[in-house]
Amino acid sequence: MKIGIAGCRSSATGQAVTDGYFRGMEQALELKEGRYHLGGVAMEELAALAGTPVYVYDSAVMTAQVQRLKNAFKGVDLKVLYACKALTNVNVLRHLRAQGCGLDAVSIEEVELALYAGFTPQEVLFTPNMVAYTEYQRAVELGVHINIDSLSVLEHFGHDFGGRVPVCIRFNPHIMAGGNERISTGHIDSKFGISIHQLRHVQRIMQSTGLKVNGLHMHTGSDILDAEVFLQGAELILELAPSFPDLTFLDLGSGFKVPYKPDDIETDIEELGQRLGERIAAFNSGRARPVEVWFEPGKFLVSASGVLLARVDQVKHTTATVFAGVDSGLNHLIRPMLYGSYHHIVNVSNPSGKPRIYTVAGYICETDTFGWDRKLNEVREGDLLAFQNAGAYGWSMASNYNSRFRPPEVLVEKGKARIIRRRETLDDLLRTQVEE
Ligand SMILES: *Cc1c(COP(=O)(O)O)cnc(C)c1O
Repeated sequence: MKIGIAGCRSSATGQAVTDGYFRGMEQALELKEGRYHLGGVAMEELAALAGTPVYVYDSAVMTAQVQRLKNAFKGVDLKVLYACKALTNVNVLRHLRAQGCGLDAVSIEEVELALYAGFTPQEVLFTPNMVAYTEYQRAVELGVHINIDSLSVLEHFGHDFGGRVPVCIRFNPHIMAGGNERISTGHIDSKFGISIHQLRHVQRIMQSTGLKVNGLHMHTGSDILDAEVFLQGAELILELAPSFPDLTFLDLGSGFKVPYKPDDIETDIEELGQRLGERIAAFNSGRARPVEVWFEPGKFLVSASGVLLARVDQVKHTTATVFAGVDSGLNHLIRPMLYGSYHHIVNVSNPSGKPRIYTVAGYICETDTFGWDRKLNEVREGDLLAFQNAGAYGWSMASNYNSRFRPPEVLVEKGKARIIRRRETLDDLLRTQVEE
């Protein structure tokens, strides 16, 4: 495992080039013999392949993350469903399917995309929230697993499909998880899930409609550091389990925190795997048939695999700061402006340049800041900056704001880079517009 590779120190010289290490999780960016690489390909080459800005993903990091999860949870009958909203390129979906992953879809479009990419309906779980009932009907037609998170839908669904189609129920365990309210979904005011306190109501719907429940689900948010939170949630779900005689799986969602900064800490997956494994084993010992344990990570599988690579068009000195302005913006990577998220930035064109302080800004006509007061190796106009942890919620949240084209995507596999999405053109911007 390439521990602490990202923007930290040269493996050739051992010389520190920027600030600190990434701990634990494997990172895509690697400094080798004085040049930055991703998946063994030099960054300049990757930029030349599709131009900038460009999203670049290292498939080996995704593979390693799946493996890490499997190793951590080897004590349980594990199923990993990739939460594809993080990154939906079909080439990535196929790569993760080849690693043994199923898929978690939050919209009927994601379900269709999964089936298009080659997932079988049995490998797909549909976990929507606040959607039209017609999406559930369509999901029944498509034959995927269905996860219901509201009593009114449950009742309606029970009446229509009661004896025929079993469902999973998403419960809200009312755990405030994660550091950020906007990415927490399990708290008391959350719109997600059926409250665990509404168990009686759920049971009455099951009795009156003949609806069978084959899975229990919780997903309490993103960036959950503490293994304890998962264990508490699992405990609450296990308490409900005896009320569901047809149970075959428990889906404990996701929200594993990944390191975004050097020295950032991450969820201790290995500890969680160990402790949860013991708890599930105890639960299973009292059952005729052991339950499967499902997880549906997005970030954990793809975040660290990707970088957004952008070119510095202007270095601009103001009275207050030095801006490094790049050929990208919040239209391509919205997380810093939307959530205040930190994405580590590395000047991959000047690994041995003197570290200086910059504010890195995008070209959108709004306040568009990727990072304030970042220490980067001296930035010159024309340099390439890499924004790390851009694999998850990068391209998938990109827009055409300011009529900018969305960037291409490049996947590196076994030392070979290929374009898996081309850059947009003016035709793409006009395609859906209707003219007289
Ligand atoms: C977004 C989402 C996930 C993935 O969350 P990450 O923080 O990316 O791991 C999993 N399950 C559901 C239902 C989601 O909405």
